[in-house]
Amino acid sequence: MKRVFTLSLVLILILTLLTGCQGGSADELNGKEFFAMDTYMTVRGYEADDELLDSAAKAVTDLEKLISTTYDASEIAQINEAGTGTVTGEAAELLEEALALCGEMQGTLDISIYPIVKVWGFTTKDYRIPSDEEIASLLEKVDCSRIEVKEDGTVTLDDGMEIDLGAVAKGYAGDMLAELFSEAGVTSAIFSLGGNIQCLGSKPDGSPWRVAIQDPESEGVIGILPVTNKAVVTSGGYERYFQGEDGEIYWHIMDPATGRPAKNGLISATAVGDSGIRCDALSTALFVMGPEKAAEFWRAHRNFEMVLVTEDHEILVSAGIADDFEPENGIPYSVSVIE
Ligand code: ADP
Ligand code: MG
Repeated sequence: MKRVFTLSLVLILILTLLTGCQGGSADELNGKEFFAMDTYMTVRGYEADDELLDSAAKAVTDLEKLISTTYDASEIAQINEAGTGTVTGEAAELLEEALALCGEMQGTLDISIYPIVKVWGFTTKDYRIPSDEEIASLLEKVDCSRIEVKEDGTVTLDDGMEIDLGAVAKGYAGDMLAELFSEAGVTSAIFSLGGNIQCLGSKPDGSPWRVAIQDPESEGVIGILPVTNKAVVTSGGYERYFQGEDGEIYWHIMDPATGRPAKNGLISATAVGDSGIRCDALSTALFVMGPEKAAEFWRAHRNFEMVLVTEDHEILVSAGIADDFEPENGIPYSVSVIE
């Protein structure tokens, strides 16, 4: 009896291997695409069943409903509208983490930048160049250190202040998905959340995921970065911008110091590290810092890695990933290492 049982087990195993492994086994990559947070997202995982993929899409959509600035019923929209309100669950955690990251980024990341983002028309696509006076008066409303969050989730904003978690929300979503897949027993997965790539573990054969970094000036890529269990997050002026009547390009990443699109020498900034939300915060912040300050910041921390692309067509790769980064052949950029 025992032999028959063992034999059947072996047979089932062989059959499963031959039939391409229904029910999800190591060589089946199952994926789902959905639209959330204003972008197409793809979640893929080995041994990830449809139920898990559906719950991943739902988790991101639920988060969006809590924090979207443009969905009137969201907790953040209501706080912006009334100047006070309550954050709960994931929104509370995200807001708390975002505020800590703003504190760390030396004034380059500020989740209270929303009045500035709005006046340039980035929320309505009704783009315009505001006057110096308008910018100066709105900048008085920008200061994340004045956002007060009580232990029970009550948030109070000074008059005219508004919160926008857009610079870190997709990164937080990446962390949330990695946790969700991990808890479901998946050890190999990759999420693509519009400019944010986050991978869980390696490929099933133990080799790293190969993440392409986009060329900010073309549809192509500047290179490939092999990574395991990391977030790779890129911020770039090319993602959303308009051309003003003066012929200048104005993009959606703002310098909180000036209230204008950050033009400090970079056209894209990619942050690589363990935490999705921190990499998202970093990619925006490094972009605002520009190459010199970003290099200084990296040297002072060394707990993340980065790939910066300058407007002078230089790719600057931090030393910790310089050997791994594989620049694409024939790209119009020179590559150097930040030590
Ligand atoms: P994307 O969301 O396009 O991937 P980012 O992560 O860099 O890019 O976030 C940019 C978004 O964050 C903008 O659309 C705007 O809503 C908001 N934002 C712009 N500048 C800043 C800033 N300096 N600090 C915080 N949020 C910002
Ligand atoms: Mg960001």
